[in-house]
Amino acid sequence: MPLLRVEGLVAKYGNTVALHGISLEIRPGEIVALVGANGAGKSTTLKVISGLIRPAAGRVFFQDQDITGLSPAGIVKRGVIHCPEGRQVFGRMTVLENLKMGAFCRRREKNPLSELDKVLELFPVLRERQNQTANTLSGGEQQMLAIGRALMARPKLLLLDEPSLGLAPKVVTTIFEVISELNRAGSTILLVEQNARRALGIAHRAYALEVGRVMLEGPGRELLNDPRVKKAYLGEA
Ligand code: ATP
Repeated sequence: MPLLRVEGLVAKYGNTVALHGISLEIRPGEIVALVGANGAGKSTTLKVISGLIRPAAGRVFFQDQDITGLSPAGIVKRGVIHCPEGRQVFGRMTVLENLKMGAFCRRREKNPLSELDKVLELFPVLRERQNQTANTLSGGEQQMLAIGRALMARPKLLLLDEPSLGLAPKVVTTIFEVISELNRAGSTILLVEQNARRALGIAHRAYALEVGRVMLEGPGRELLNDPRVKKAYLGEA
């Protein structure tokens, strides 16, 4: 049974149709990549899944339950956690406060901060800087904080939007290593990336979007070697 199943999503911004009927699925334990050029509809797909945008048509099923139209808070409660593009950390709060905010949805649980040690182990730099305000971190560190904050919610499905955007190549490598490591430890991840080469390199399966439609789908490695993908997304003739 897929963990998440999206069927025929149509999304509009005013009169602009951003998604023309996207269908995809994610099985437990997978990294699934969504690749595509600027404006292909990758972020919009994530926003519909996490309830930030209501689709004009189509359905989202999580663990076989229809979650279309639930509030973002209701979707978070089910364990679908969105780590947004552009990091969006709380700049004037400390690293530790940011991480605690990630566990806000678990505040009524017995041990809402159960993931804190794991997150600080995964990102030692966050432990070192835990009392520093987030706006004093480098871009790469802020990205790690954004991922760490999402992990504090103990996601069943992690939606990662462009985690490598604007980062130096070395930091990009670290981020992709962390994503693989998280997955090996059991996390299921939907990864949106413009860095198609890297994303397809670690994804079990992938979907290539083009102006709001799925153009290709298949194992990450297969897409990496597909001449159409090479031409369109990897800058190869
Ligand atoms: P990027 O990597 O540039 O974010 P993307 O594949 O994530 O690209 P989306 O952000 O999902 O693409 O955008 C899909 C389409 O919807 C684009 O044509 C975009 O211009 C449009 N769009 C996105 N957000 C809005 C908005 N808030 N208002 C109007 N149009 C929007």
